[in-house]
Amino acid sequence: MRTDGTVYYLNACASQMFNIPASQLEGKPICSYVSEVNGERSWEEIFTLMLKQELCKTNVIIHPHENNEDIICELSSFFVPGNKDYPDSLALIFRNITQQTRIDEQIEKKNLEMAKMNSELIRSNAELKRVSEMKSNFLSIASHELKTPLTSIKGYSDIIIDNMKEKIDSGVYRMIESINRAADRLHRVVNNILDVTRIEQKRLRLKPEMIDLGVVAKDCIDELSQFSLKRGITFNCTFDKGDLQFYGDKMKMQQVFTNLFSNALKYSPDGSVVEVSIGKQNQKRFHIIVRDHGIGIDKSEQKNIFDAFYEVGSATRHSTDFSKFMGGGTGLGLSIVKGIVERHGGKIWVESEGVKENSFPGSEFHITLPFKAEISWDDDETKFSSIEKEDELNEQEISLQTEVKPTILFIDSDREAVEIARMVLENAFETIVAESGEVGLSLAFQHHPSLILMDSYLPGIDGYRVCRILRSQDETRDIPVAFFSAGTQNDEIQKCFACGADDFIVKPFSGRELVDKIWRLLMKKKEEETFK
Ligand code: ADP
Repeated sequence: MRTDGTVYYLNACASQMFNIPASQLEGKPICSYVSEVNGERSWEEIFTLMLKQELCKTNVIIHPHENNEDIICELSSFFVPGNKDYPDSLALIFRNITQQTRIDEQIEKKNLEMAKMNSELIRSNAELKRVSEMKSNFLSIASHELKTPLTSIKGYSDIIIDNMKEKIDSGVYRMIESINRAADRLHRVVNNILDVTRIEQKRLRLKPEMIDLGVVAKDCIDELSQFSLKRGITFNCTFDKGDLQFYGDKMKMQQVFTNLFSNALKYSPDGSVVEVSIGKQNQKRFHIIVRDHGIGIDKSEQKNIFDAFYEVGSATRHSTDFSKFMGGGTGLGLSIVKGIVERHGGKIWVESEGVKENSFPGSEFHITLPFKAEISWDDDETKFSSIEKEDELNEQEISLQTEVKPTILFIDSDREAVEIARMVLENAFETIVAESGEVGLSLAFQHHPSLILMDSYLPGIDGYRVCRILRSQDETRDIPVAFFSAGTQNDEIQKCFACGADDFIVKPFSGRELVDKIWRLLMKKKEEETFK
């Protein structure tokens, strides 16, 4: 270029770029053909800067002559000093970078899209986590809330079944029996939901001890024998001779075996065989295999079945396609099994050829476990909420019903009320009765009952004084005391608590209310003893 901005010489390549014969451009300015990429500078400005050697490289767009397709170029320049034959000039070199720029633009666009998707993923991940936590909390609270009414349903139906068979209509009796069975089923489901939420929230506690895996597995098989015998299904056990001593939680391992064995029963035809083998995989781990000859599991489902609430197909399919046997459940069993196994530092997987028309390919569940449970998360006490502790107490509540009966001492001169209370309670509790404060006190010292229920109005020393005396003596200080009260007057309630009572029950009370109150007080006492 001449220093005045007109073209001095154009090579063939440049002529092609500008889409114009060199002769037509030589001696002319090129400002109408060139502009700066993303630049606010005019061609004249750029040219001036290059001439002063203040700019030697920039990207420009060439708008070729009579052509719509722009070309993006990297433009570099250098000054060529003149001599007597040639004037000073500026050499411009245009390098076509259109394709490269288009690719770079595409990459940048994709990068931006990916960054956007990434931040959306992070956001939805956080949202998923929040919803999952909400779900776990909801399940935990809902199950917990279900346990209290369940205890009453179970408790009352037990009382009727054990004591009233002859006294009530046989049809009603059968209904009560089915209520009782339904309560047991619901109790199992509630416990499963609680286990799943404990696993999801990493709150599953282990109580490890030395156990023999073979013995635990055999016990579980025996427990299920009423179902397996009925269906003609046999368990074939191959246990390695020698040491199968495992340091882990016995109850939880029972859950693992029971769930796997009952699935094997559920999804296998009558008369088939379930093979159980337990041995050492190597010097560090046990290998447990439960192999059935049932309907099998599709390859595409083999990962999903360990997710909570996941069920393959429908129970109807299992029971109609291959008559005689019945599948279906809640979809919680395997997720609990996986949670327990992993909690012990183990692994679980399934192998199956998949479901096949009218044949039984079967499934093989494999578990590996370290000889000594490797606890995979902390037993951090702070993680165990009050609900968790109450759940445990509720479990004890159900178990309390099967332990030695607690003794209740009634101190009340109202014989009728005492009789009703005794009728409601006699199945679950031992009861003793005193009709005066003095007799009540001596029975309390003599029997040290689990709980005292008394009226405030008593002949001789009144209930409030009796309660104060009980509270002042070491032997009776810890016995929970509840007052029967005829009203809910504030001063009367205050008097109850002021003398050291734990609670009061307003007359007339319902049997359910009485039982609930008694269990609550017994639980509270047990809780205080546990956390002392
Ligand atoms: P469920 O209570 O429904 O049995 P699980 O979590 O124990 O729940 O099992 C999840 C699903 O895995 C079941 O619905 C069933 O479809 C499948 N499954 C589990 N064990 C077996 C098995 N031994 N054979 C075939 N399918 C099985």
